[in-house]
Amino acid sequence: MPPENPGNFEQFNGRRYNAYNDWVKRAHGGRWQKVSIDAGFTCPNRDGSLGIGGCSFCNNDGFTPSYLREEREIATQIDTGITFMRRRYPDSKGFLAYFQSYSNTYDELARLKSRYDIALAHPGISGIVIGTRPDCLPEATLDYLAELSTQTMLELEIGIESCNDDVLRECLRGHDFACTQDAIRRAARRGLFITGHLLLGLPLETAQSLVDGAKALALLPLDALKFHQLQILRGTRLANRYRAAPESVPLLNPESYLDAVIDVLEQLPPDIKIQRLGSEVPPAVRVSPDWGMRLAKFQACLEERLHTRDTWQGRYFAGQAQPGN
Ligand code: SF4
Repeated sequence: MPPENPGNFEQFNGRRYNAYNDWVKRAHGGRWQKVSIDAGFTCPNRDGSLGIGGCSFCNNDGFTPSYLREEREIATQIDTGITFMRRRYPDSKGFLAYFQSYSNTYDELARLKSRYDIALAHPGISGIVIGTRPDCLPEATLDYLAELSTQTMLELEIGIESCNDDVLRECLRGHDFACTQDAIRRAARRGLFITGHLLLGLPLETAQSLVDGAKALALLPLDALKFHQLQILRGTRLANRYRAAPESVPLLNPESYLDAVIDVLEQLPPDIKIQRLGSEVPPAVRVSPDWGMRLAKFQACLEERLHTRDTWQGRYFAGQAQPGN
């Protein structure tokens, strides 16, 4: 028997899922806006350590603001980003430097520190968000991040993408899910705030593999999760395959995507904060059809769909998230 509808979603601020933005307002007194940075790092799937062509879906231009492509100085990128964000979100309480492009822990520790220090020294920046791959988190780097997190607001964002090894192999990711589990546990042992990044709709992912993966994620010490829909971007291996044989890359549509998000949400513990529900990419970069969904619409449609299905985050979560060790 499925659990009864609790009929009371006070723990989610009246929603049916745990929205990160609600939590951040409660925990940090307001909205904190992330300012994207390209710090000039690469990733092992591009520099030849694991591969040279990258993950099959990856084109960093798909999620990199245009000013980052023209400006190399971190401080100037931050100036431009803050000016833009202030106009768009005038109620922002502050700004976090978001090391977003490529793998931002993939370098000598001294060089990582120098890049992070430049961002943290900027007078408009109150903290740091570091996006990376799970196989780019050696112990010394995690120790340093743990130390840094005692001095500033710090979030570590780990690319999970899929919890299924066949899917990870197919998209040429270069690591398996065991690597992801290990990285999350090692980071959590040090008390770091960890966000996972999940990409829904990758080739070979099925409704069942997604639910199985969500059950595995539910047992990890994650603080937050981001969902993105697979979009086919120019310059990627997936784009080549899609152009040659579109039927070889079956894509989700907005309805099936939202159902997939909900299937995952139902398995997660209620305390995982949902940081993002989808992504927008510039039309010039996108090859797959445009859904015409802005981020606010993802949220509204998800809430409507949760209501229609009369379900909620954590509905089927029965386990207990593991501590970091
Ligand atoms: S998705 Fe990340 S790990 Fe994969 S190729 Fe792109 S930057 Fe590298």
